[in-house]
Amino acid sequence: MSQAMALYHLQETELQLLRGQKRLAEIATALEDHQAIDQAQAAVEAAQRALSPLQTRARNLELEIQSNLAKIQNADEALYSGRIRNPKELQDLQQEIQALKRRNADLEDQLLETMLAIEEAEASLAQTRQALEQTTAAWNEQHAHLLEEQKQLKAERSKLLQQREQALAGIDAASLSEYNALKPRKQNQPIALLIGGSCAVCGVEQTQMLVSEAMQGRTLVKCLSCGRILAYRPGS
Ligand SMILES: [Zn+2]
Repeated sequence: MSQAMALYHLQETELQLLRGQKRLAEIATALEDHQAIDQAQAAVEAAQRALSPLQTRARNLELEIQSNLAKIQNADEALYSGRIRNPKELQDLQQEIQALKRRNADLEDQLLETMLAIEEAEASLAQTRQALEQTTAAWNEQHAHLLEEQKQLKAERSKLLQQREQALAGIDAASLSEYNALKPRKQNQPIALLIGGSCAVCGVEQTQMLVSEAMQGRTLVKCLSCGRILAYRPGS
């Protein structure tokens, strides 16, 4: 194998290593990200906070209605007991009963409204709880997939590192130093295949002389346009 082709194998292995590394970093970030669950949890808490004062209000209204009913009953009993004879006192008592009844009618309207509001608040609480469940289930599933992918990438990484060692074993010091010098200037892609007489990265057709030198593979030949080392793969 020519030095250019050996460098090409090194480059492809290193590019795969870089892609794997990038993906592993993405996975690590995704595994730490609980934002969706936190948001769903916050929605449940907000729905609970909206419901709770309505329930308190309904209990207070019920208590006041009960207390008024007891007062009405007492006043009724006094009215029909025959103990009170003074007409002014009887009239006052009747008025008090009327006032309590009007007050309770008003309280019952308020209670009905509150009960309707409670129904709505309970429905939205149930919705947010369901959404939280779904979000949690989806996150758990995604988490499992990511862990599996992470495992595969780590296994692949060890293989690629071995492959890199093997590729390096076939490369001489001068070729490697040229490769390393060119790498940062060519976005980690200092080697281009020569395909049909053209550089496969920039697409520019090479001179006949460059093509034949690249095909012989005795020296490192660079693309006349992008400056990458041209690797000729027999048959292309
Ligand atoms: Zn080129």
